[in-house]
Amino acid sequence: MSASPTDPPRDSRAQPDAAARPATGSGADPVIVRTKIVATVGPASRGEEALRGLVAAGVDVFRLNMAHGSPAEHEETLGRIRAVSREAGRPVGVLVDLAGPKIRLGDLPGGTVECVEGTRIRLVRGTGPSTAEAFTVTYDRLVDELAKGDPVILADGSVALEVEERQPDALVCRVVQGGSVRSRQGVNLPGVRLSIAAMTAADWRHAEWAAGAGVDFVSLSFVRSADEVRLLKELLRARGSAARVVAKIEKPEAVAAMDAVCAAADVVMVARGDLGVEIDVAEMPIVQKRIIRTCQRFQKPVIVATQMLESMQHSRRPTRAEATDVANAILDGADACMLSGETAIGAHPEAAVRMMRRIARATESQYLADRRVSIEERQRAPWLSAAVEAAQPESLPEGLHPITQAVVDGAGRIAADVGARLVVVASHTGATAIARSKRRGAVPTVGVSDCEATLRQMALYWGVTPLGGTVSNDVEALLAHVTAWGLAAGRLAAGDRVVLVSGFGFGTGGHNMALVREV
Ligand code: PEP
Repeated sequence: MSASPTDPPRDSRAQPDAAARPATGSGADPVIVRTKIVATVGPASRGEEALRGLVAAGVDVFRLNMAHGSPAEHEETLGRIRAVSREAGRPVGVLVDLAGPKIRLGDLPGGTVECVEGTRIRLVRGTGPSTAEAFTVTYDRLVDELAKGDPVILADGSVALEVEERQPDALVCRVVQGGSVRSRQGVNLPGVRLSIAAMTAADWRHAEWAAGAGVDFVSLSFVRSADEVRLLKELLRARGSAARVVAKIEKPEAVAAMDAVCAAADVVMVARGDLGVEIDVAEMPIVQKRIIRTCQRFQKPVIVATQMLESMQHSRRPTRAEATDVANAILDGADACMLSGETAIGAHPEAAVRMMRRIARATESQYLADRRVSIEERQRAPWLSAAVEAAQPESLPEGLHPITQAVVDGAGRIAADVGARLVVVASHTGATAIARSKRRGAVPTVGVSDCEATLRQMALYWGVTPLGGTVSNDVEALLAHVTAWGLAAGRLAAGDRVVLVSGFGFGTGGHNMALVREV
């Protein structure tokens, strides 16, 4: 995320922006945090004042969760986010999260039922009222598609049933792990393949609304295959939307098809809430690392989500384990970390964002210091250069020319070698900014674009500060624009070096030039 207005102008202690070599110039050094923060909007945060506070605290992208709230409410929230972002002079993205084919319990008598271990619960067909022993579910064909021995997990993993018998209109299940369940809670069926459609009628309506409303990202829950991701992309494109599609990985099928899903998606989310129930929670840390590594190979931004600072829903301080979880996600290679209940319904939404930002800053400063060692090693042993930045990707961001990729990578190395303060990339679609971001170079990046939607999408990209401006091959004009902004924002000072990625005689299709300038 870019420097927030609430940050102190300098931070001589943390030096989070230490580039490969001590930066040149007179030492402009505002606090920059590279990891982006996605915050879920809910009753605790949808008011204008609350949104303003969250933007000031450092939110880069807001998530509107379509599983909750009415379309009218989301429309209103979107308008407020846009207004608050304009007022702050900072592009802030909006992600519309489609609920997908999530199966839920119907309404339970009194709202809560205690499932006692060893007793029987029936899952019944139909929409009639549930009883304490017979629950309805939102997927009518569940009775036909489960078999004896299949697990049914309720209450976010705390209650487990096992199908004992299938009857024409009911599944008789034994409670193997007891606990209380509430009305409308999710039903997880780990390892069970269902014929349920990827997008419900409500998802179609919400996606159409999102396309018309000009949101920046649309995520699909419970993705199982690359085709489902492409379906949503086609729907959005057909309605003229350039929204990036986020594949939420929360089913074992998606983990198994990770390469194809990642290749089809624009962005990936490690949706640990449902994923941690659908797979053995003991495997969650390793699966998270595998998903992030796949995103690195395919150059796709990746968001790590759910329970990152869970205890901050009620407390002003996170647990040690939560702070460590955020740090480890960043070290794994997460581009963004997401807050859910913490900002949607928590008592301290702003404090949670500030805490996440502080953890990111502390983590990045060590991470970048470690990388500086690698660069010094490289100077002694130039053949180590490939290890300095992230591993070579296997595919280019959509629309990126291979020459642009090579020039962006070269610019990153030059920036490190000359102790540059900034790498500047001009980007119509954001593809060049993604290529730069995914290399996790130590020198911060400014992504210049003349497209508002691209700027809001860049808000999600690790290490990239979006900056509005004209994108052309007029290098002098671009440099003058970035320099004026950098001096005013405290990101540049006289004598600082800047590396600009640009194009010369290469048409509009890509960049073929890296230029070093001193301010
Ligand atoms: C998740 O399951 O981790 C997630 C992000 O999705 P949701 O918040 O919609 O359950």
